[in-house]
Amino acid sequence: MMNRTLGEIALMAGGTLSEGVPSDLRVNGVSKDTRTIEQGALYVPLIGEAFDGHRFVEEALKRGAAASLWQADRPDAPAGAPLIYVKDTLAALQRLAREYRRQLPVRIVGITGSNGKTTTKDLTAAVLSASFQVHKTAGNYNNHIGLPLTLLGLNEETEIAVLEMGMSGRGEIELLSRLAEPEVAVITNIGEAHLLQLGSRKEIARAKTEILVGLQPDGLLIYNGDEPLIEEVLPELAEPGRMNAAAYRKLRFGAEPDNAYFPADVSMDSAGSHFHLGGDDTDYYVPLPGAHNVVNALAAIAVGRHFGMQPADVARGLSQAELTGMRIEVLSAPSGLTILNDAYNASPTSMRAAIALLHELTGYERKYAVLGDMLELGDREAEFHRGVGAMLDPERVEVVYLYGPLSVHTAEGLKERFPADRVRYYEDKEALAEALKLAAGPKDVVLIKGSRGMRMEQTAVFLMQSG
Ligand code: ATP
Ligand code: MG
Repeated sequence: MMNRTLGEIALMAGGTLSEGVPSDLRVNGVSKDTRTIEQGALYVPLIGEAFDGHRFVEEALKRGAAASLWQADRPDAPAGAPLIYVKDTLAALQRLAREYRRQLPVRIVGITGSNGKTTTKDLTAAVLSASFQVHKTAGNYNNHIGLPLTLLGLNEETEIAVLEMGMSGRGEIELLSRLAEPEVAVITNIGEAHLLQLGSRKEIARAKTEILVGLQPDGLLIYNGDEPLIEEVLPELAEPGRMNAAAYRKLRFGAEPDNAYFPADVSMDSAGSHFHLGGDDTDYYVPLPGAHNVVNALAAIAVGRHFGMQPADVARGLSQAELTGMRIEVLSAPSGLTILNDAYNASPTSMRAAIALLHELTGYERKYAVLGDMLELGDREAEFHRGVGAMLDPERVEVVYLYGPLSVHTAEGLKERFPADRVRYYEDKEALAEALKLAAGPKDVVLIKGSRGMRMEQTAVFLMQSG
């Protein structure tokens, strides 16, 4: 983590040290949270709609913070405290992070996209860890606050940092890219998440390609070649002065064989997939279920190769990947029923990926789907839910359990192919789980998925209770 003197930090953050405080005082680490702040760290009081971190500055210092930022327009600065006055604490945090990043020899991989960012980040870090000192974004710390804090967590020894970049509107990825100045930018895909805010998939593609703005001059873009929209909007970035890099290299990955990286000979089980790359005889194993994770793994492999790794080292790193909590989690209920808990989030793209996974799974007697609503889709929400319903294959899924008000649209789509007596709607997750417990046997499997706000993981919790 960042280790600098107060004087250096004041310079980097564009602030002024309070009077009488020794400028050679060392600070180790940066935190925005007094509950987890470490001894000797710098406290950053952020201001939100419902809170003001300045209320906790004294507490942070009491708990061992070496110093704190202070936004100059806030009243009642504690007298005699080691403070760095700044105009805006959030802007100062970002500026400090950017300056710190520029002082480090670290090489940076930035990862954005509608779905699969965290997964691809974890897979990429796993690959690179076979050959390098790697630091990755913790959990989902992917926004205008989490990313600077992640940069400030880097050590002088970190060789490569793998950073997730998230957004909910235009301009956000551009900001993150300017802070991180990545050498490699990855775009996992363009989906429908944030369609409500952005209006069209093309606009989403524009927002994701902003990751190129801060790319290093000799940088590389690794992007999903199955998504024509990315290619389509790339030239728009060429407007003079917009990008750091006048020229950059491009590499495509994806399921289709016209990509530089595409999978061949895929064999899947419920835990993961073995595959080859077209034109390479190395055996790769990605320890995550689903065809979409093979595609995510391709991006991670491409990054490893960019950094000069041999295929055998890449494969070894990939096979040892560990994921950041609550993605597709495979659970075994007391009854023996296998639960694929994918309740972390859902957009139409990730919903289709999860259903495709359920369809492909073999080795189970009967397969069930428990689907909650997909939220924040805007005008086309009914259409997207119908599409999901229409996709479900009655030959491969036994019963579909629905939860949430938008399910009426899913049910309508299901009508195309699914017999009505194999579609159930519940207003209560516990009742849903009880019904499923009665129906499902020990050799069965159930997929559980819905938007975060639907809290579909509660169904998994009920299923995991015995009796
Ligand atoms: P968030 O925006 O919440 O940070 P994320 O982009 O980091 O999401 P992940 O957390 O990696 O995405 O994955 C979320 C879900 O998206 C997974 O559980 C899976 O169902 C789905 N998913 C992952 N990769 C892909 C992909 N390449 N294409 C489609 N869906 C995917
Ligand atoms: Mg994420």
